[in-house]
Amino acid sequence: MEVFVLRLGHRPARDKRISTHVALTARAFGAKGIFVSTKDEELEESVRDVTGRFGGDFEIRTGVKWKPLLRDFQGTKVHLTMYGVHVDDALPRIKKEAEGRVLIVVGAEKVPADVYQLADFNVAVGNQPHSEVAALAVFMDRLTDGEGLRSEFEGRLKVLPCERGKRVVDRERPE
Ligand code: SAM
Repeated sequence: MEVFVLRLGHRPARDKRISTHVALTARAFGAKGIFVSTKDEELEESVRDVTGRFGGDFEIRTGVKWKPLLRDFQGTKVHLTMYGVHVDDALPRIKKEAEGRVLIVVGAEKVPADVYQLADFNVAVGNQPHSEVAALAVFMDRLTDGEGLRSEFEGRLKVLPCERGKRVVDRERPE
């Protein structure tokens, strides 16, 4: 399955940190890339910097016209919203339909009404307001049955899990 994320309503001055977290969460949970509706070169740079060091082929594009992208996306379109169908109820249907590509839409500020119509599924990660980062993480983990978190990135830097402290191998500077 190929998963992409569309981040709507990013405001560079206010949302840089949280949009970076949305992108890094998408990458860490196995997405192929993120589209951001507002142009933000600094956001692109910081996400590419992580990919450059930690690996993978995650792509980021900002300044993307969201409506044509959402309308024409070949695959299943899932909008995460607290107003949607509970993830437990929606997921079996999404998994049945989403064989190839999935586009997950998350907002920042209020999402345009059209999004609810253009999406194939409006899904709530619980029907309480919380965060796009939390919603994305829970949804991607469930969509991939935990496999997304096992993605291999083959980066220059590789973290070796350990009980205490930090172990990181730099492939360009072998010990
Ligand atoms: N106030 C905005 C509105 O009314 O649309 C939403 C702001 S919320 C901080 C930003 C994004 O987080 C939402 O657009 C949605 O994608 C996601 N989100 C927040 N709570 C959610 C939930 N319970 N389930 C799914 N997504 C959620």
